[in-house]
Amino acid sequence: MSRASNFPPPFSSADYVTEPTDPADERIEVGVLVVGAGPAGLACAIRLGQLIEQNPEVAERLGDVPVAVIEKGKQPGSHLLSGAVVNPRALRRLLGERFRMEDLPSFGPVPGESVYVLTRRAALPIPPPPPMRNHGNWIFSLSQLGRFLGERAEEGGAVILPETSAQKLLVSHGRVVGVRTGDKGRGREGGELGNFEAGSDLVAKVTVLAEGTQGHLTGVAIDRFGLRGEDPQVWELGVKEVWKVAKPLDRIIHTMGWPLRAGGKYREFGGSFIYPMGKDMVTIGLVVGLDYRDASLSVHDLLQELKTHPKIRKILAGGERVQWGAKTIPSGGFHALPSRLHAPGLLLCGDGAGMVNIPRLKGVHYAIESGRLAAEAAFRALQRGATPATALSSYDDAVRGSFIWDDLYEVRNMRQVFGRGFFVGGALASAMTMSKGRVEVGKLPAEPDADQPLLVTDRDKSYPAPDGALVFDKLSSVFASGNKTRDDQPNHIRLERRVPSDVAQLWAHMCPAQVYEVGADEGDGTVRVEVAPSNCVQCGAITAKGGRLTPPEGGSGPEYSLT
Ligand SMILES: Cc1cc2nc3c(=O)[nH]c(=O)nc-3n(C[C@H](O)[C@H](O)[C@H](O)COP(=O)(O)OP(=O)(O)OC[C@H]3O[C@@H](n4cnc5c(N)ncnc54)[C@H](O)[C@@H]3O)c2cc1C
Ligand code: SF4
Repeated sequence: MSRASNFPPPFSSADYVTEPTDPADERIEVGVLVVGAGPAGLACAIRLGQLIEQNPEVAERLGDVPVAVIEKGKQPGSHLLSGAVVNPRALRRLLGERFRMEDLPSFGPVPGESVYVLTRRAALPIPPPPPMRNHGNWIFSLSQLGRFLGERAEEGGAVILPETSAQKLLVSHGRVVGVRTGDKGRGREGGELGNFEAGSDLVAKVTVLAEGTQGHLTGVAIDRFGLRGEDPQVWELGVKEVWKVAKPLDRIIHTMGWPLRAGGKYREFGGSFIYPMGKDMVTIGLVVGLDYRDASLSVHDLLQELKTHPKIRKILAGGERVQWGAKTIPSGGFHALPSRLHAPGLLLCGDGAGMVNIPRLKGVHYAIESGRLAAEAAFRALQRGATPATALSSYDDAVRGSFIWDDLYEVRNMRQVFGRGFFVGGALASAMTMSKGRVEVGKLPAEPDADQPLLVTDRDKSYPAPDGALVFDKLSSVFASGNKTRDDQPNHIRLERRVPSDVAQLWAHMCPAQVYEVGADEGDGTVRVEVAPSNCVQCGAITAKGGRLTPPEGGSGPEYSLT
């Protein structure tokens, strides 16, 4: 019985921390540098714009570029993927009087909701358990919301640098002073191609990491400054599709049960969401905890299987898949939050810091609120006469005093109880929610996803065969993500290439984008793992299950527009 964590990747965080290397006059200087144009980073940039507008003398001190946001996707939104049923609370607070919810690019408020427990053929309706109640929330495409927020950030004076990946953390005298961006135009073996462009040092007075799930520099910073939380972080993998449909869906739907197996030995925790996107589209997704044990489990293929259920087939009948994508969600909750959300010169927010309420499948409003609070702390640090260390530590106090902290505390053991199996876990989770977190189940042990001992079943033999209409294979899915990764760029995935066969099978089945294949038997009890990095849609699952995703060349990866 292998564990993926016994075969760690050739990766060291220390290799991604450096002093600035460009000559001083060639460094790009900005006031506040935000890494990641997701809801957290863009909320931070928007709030900074508002504060600077009210205090123009601060802008003067910050130079030509008071606020810069770097984003590895082609534009804000390109790498954003979510449900996305959003609690509007943080958006309202961020945008204030300037925009009403009706002015945002949404599909309107949640019109109604149903929850079903599925078996292979039947769907048993149950009253929505408290965490699944969504009255008052709004339906979005996060990718579209990202583009909208990006425009608002630019209107407020932020400079957005797309197609730029933050590769290294610049640290000088124990303080974060910015990031180094990745090179572009290198060949497979690392050599410079005709269009080579070296990365640059972007130096800033405050750096805000808003990289989202599996944030590369966030992980590096957590190691460098000793910020690990009480529990290890764990993740879920979400795979979703957007469909044009013949008949409008009149409510949001969540399902539990099939195609996941209830037996505790499999540790299969998760569920599906089906949300209307206006009159002619729906999104359907499946989210599964990455602490599962069966090496033959593939979330991509389970989603294909889910669509063959009679209840769901009916919703998609006569329709057409128009987009596909995948992403992880941090699910360790309260106990896995970093011990501090700041370090000298640095703030952490959103999914990168693990601010997700898994039973509710909500993170967008925490990302926005934490981005807003990070902006206020960064701004305090920029005031004349401020003590930056005190100003940045006030961000931790602000998050602890916010609804983010209260909400995450309430569901603090929720994810871990599902390690006890679906039915026991479900009962405990309901009791905890109904009592607003007062029902104590004691602090439960948490293990990294890659520590789970593997078992191999023939689950993969029962995945439905692709028909190109309802059921798709992984490569057609990658195509439907709009993936833009160059075939000949350097491999950005760090992975042990010789592993026992069950670990190789785990990676091959797990990756929703068919990046890994089980290769030749090496004759010493291991097999070779073949890697096709250009298929990667940067979902992050490999980091949870024993490898390490690093950001590829800026502009690579999916081109999401509806996810
Ligand atoms: C399948 C699924 C369903 C979900 N459903 C819901 C839901 O219904 N409601 C809800 O509220 N939440 C939901 N969530 C969670 C929600 O999407 C996240 O909590 C939210 O997107 C977090 O925002 P963020 O800004 O922290 O990170 P992200 O949205 O991940 O944005 C991070 C951005 O940073 C960029 N970036 C990262 N690293 C770098 C780097 N090194 N250099 C440059 N750019 C970088 C990325 O490209 C990305 O654009 C869901 C998540 C998933 C995966
Ligand atoms: S290679 Fe890793 S990060 Fe990329 S799509 Fe596959 S599992 Fe996700």
